[in-house]
Amino acid sequence: MSKTAESAQEIRHDWSRKEVQALFDLPMNDLMFQAQTVHRQNFDPNAVQLSTLLNIKTGACAEDCSYCSQSVVNDTSLKVEPLMDEETVMESAREAKKNGASRFCMGAAWRSPTPKGFERILEIISGVKTLGLETCATLGMLSNEQAHQLKEAGLDYYNHNLDTSAEYYDKVITTRTYQDRLDTLSFVRDAGMKVCCGGIVGMGEEQTDRVGLLLTLANLDHHPESVPMNLLVKIEGTPLADTEDLDIFEFIRCIAVARILMPRSMVRLSAGRQSLSDEAQAMCYLAGANSIFYGERLLTTDNPEADQDRMLFGRLGLHPMETEADAARESELAATDAGTHTQVNEQADEQQAVH
Ligand code: SF4
Repeated sequence: MSKTAESAQEIRHDWSRKEVQALFDLPMNDLMFQAQTVHRQNFDPNAVQLSTLLNIKTGACAEDCSYCSQSVVNDTSLKVEPLMDEETVMESAREAKKNGASRFCMGAAWRSPTPKGFERILEIISGVKTLGLETCATLGMLSNEQAHQLKEAGLDYYNHNLDTSAEYYDKVITTRTYQDRLDTLSFVRDAGMKVCCGGIVGMGEEQTDRVGLLLTLANLDHHPESVPMNLLVKIEGTPLADTEDLDIFEFIRCIAVARILMPRSMVRLSAGRQSLSDEAQAMCYLAGANSIFYGERLLTTDNPEADQDRMLFGRLGLHPMETEADAARESELAATDAGTHTQVNEQADEQQAVH
């Protein structure tokens, strides 16, 4: 067994660029083998977490993210919708709970929450919490104080992506800095919330940028509990609409490297999954992806229909994982018992966002 596979139980935060590049440089079969080995040491290899998203405020965002239809600077056909009222959100949350959801995630297109909007968000989160649901949100940049207020209101998870490498970042976004993003992540951690943080590939970046993104994520003090990997969805009216396609094997390599670097994180196939063939998706699962967005529209991009996912799960012998808490327990079990184990999983309908 390779050195990387042998040491898979060890959670590292000191990866070097050379080591990460070396993983990208492996022959595909060797990389997949290592990633699958790490995956099996930490998770049920056939369990996939299902996530869905409620978009509670759409469009009119002041940021200039080049890939996003919700930015005011991008001329897309997106219909702007203001922040939903609390009762509408609560209705959706009740419905989600009735359908078996244990977590409810809310996405709002903001540079950072407005004071008035933030007050309403705190009330919404407290309300959703009273239903006994885990809560998750993506609201843009946060201050330290806002992060603590969200935690006090009952927010469990916060999504905030790094998007790309520090070096490529200003080719994609100019209205806030990479450090702003790292600061928000650090406020979220300090406030005691769990972190969902990943990036987008296929934005015209070099492989060294994909190495840089994964290196930064893997060397955070704590690995994000969830690592969404997005493949650029080219939206007409955005500056990245005509970007050259990324070789799909390169996307799969990113999944595999993320799995090896962050052995106990949920690696999520996020935006862009619709453009993947069944075979490519199967390779992503083999590479260690164990979470998907399921059934609904993912912020502003289409997502494959739930039935298609069910059919592919059936063909691959995959089953839904219950919640991240179960995944964590599963991961702890795997850490103390290297033997294979199975878990009875019921379908979970979990909410998650990309932002
Ligand atoms: S990705 Fe998020 S922050 Fe960037 S423009 Fe879109 S909604 Fe705004």
